[in-house]
Amino acid sequence: MPASESPDHIEFRIGTEGKIETIDIKTVEDYSAEDGSLLIKLHQEEKSLKGDTRDQKPRKLDYATAMMPGYVGMKNLPPEEAWALFNYKNAGEEGQTIMAGHINKNSPTLLLPLQAGVCPFDCKECPFALSFEENKAKKTKQIGVEETRILVQQSLEQAKKHNIDVSDIGVSFVGSGDATPNQHLEDIFKMIAKEFPNVRRVRFSTVAGKAHKGRLTPMQTVAKIIDSPEYKGHPQISIQVSAHNTDEDLRAAHVYEQRLSSEEVLSGERGFTVEDAKRMLLPLVEVAKQFGQIVQAQKDKGLKNIRKPTLTFVCTSTTKINLKSLGKRGFNPESTVVQLRPILSDDPKDCMKKEVFFALYHSLRDAQYDVVLMPVSPSGVELKAG
Ligand code: SF4
Repeated sequence: MPASESPDHIEFRIGTEGKIETIDIKTVEDYSAEDGSLLIKLHQEEKSLKGDTRDQKPRKLDYATAMMPGYVGMKNLPPEEAWALFNYKNAGEEGQTIMAGHINKNSPTLLLPLQAGVCPFDCKECPFALSFEENKAKKTKQIGVEETRILVQQSLEQAKKHNIDVSDIGVSFVGSGDATPNQHLEDIFKMIAKEFPNVRRVRFSTVAGKAHKGRLTPMQTVAKIIDSPEYKGHPQISIQVSAHNTDEDLRAAHVYEQRLSSEEVLSGERGFTVEDAKRMLLPLVEVAKQFGQIVQAQKDKGLKNIRKPTLTFVCTSTTKINLKSLGKRGFNPESTVVQLRPILSDDPKDCMKKEVFFALYHSLRDAQYDVVLMPVSPSGVELKAG
């Protein structure tokens, strides 16, 4: 519960398993952009109050949250239009105009983190990755209900100050961190459902790591929430899995790229191979099965608007998405939306070529998949938030 509040400073106590911690969260700064996005940086100082605390140094953690504009008309577009949107960053002013036509400032999405400090995964080029040079000395923390409540409250307050309409928003846990190791997803969801009626949609994102023994995966947690008697469909809940590749070796190489290419591993000081990386990920066959369970749970509940889980691919000049492999793993159009995201590079040579995009887009649409585009926002605020 908040113990004291001022517009920029909140202090509260949390008690977990007999341990009491005080946490100060201070809004450090915010940046707003023309497309209606807002980046909010927060700083936390945390101190355990158990035992003698006289010499205790507070643990310092930084968070970033972001309000993003909502998007419209991103799904199942005619191929030429889909390409124009997918490729808008490389198309100068014309591209900016195309993107502007898909922005809806009336229904923004708040991006929230799931780990403070550092993520346990090691995705290519991600600054939150465990093996990212600047993160090596950092500690990580699974963000729980209390922190999330404060992060949502603070972010909404800041958004209102910038005249962003927050009467109908989505929350997406897609900032720094990943849903797999966070054991608080269900409680976080319940808290949001109870305390923030203006949140209409909640989405968790994950690379689908293997859950610790006895714990649920984020997909299983979503199915469990939908199954629970108290869930009546509000807010809508969904999940996004960043698959990156239909080939398990290439997928593991992407999610553990920074560890695999670290000096310790390259010098042989530490053993870590693609096979080790693969063992730490939930096989796509399992992901597909759990996608099916989420859709089935919604049908069993009689929900009208079924939110199919999303399988995301960041597309580069070398990306290959094999439609047969998708089917072999058990994915199907009834329980999977495919999301295509262009690689974030200033060099068009790194980007997927038009003819490759066309072939992929046509094949996915011919196979009846819903295809959603997710280009980077004009302000790029989501990248700064993670
Ligand atoms: S991309 Fe996401 S899952 Fe991967 S290291 Fe970064 S924060 Fe973690």
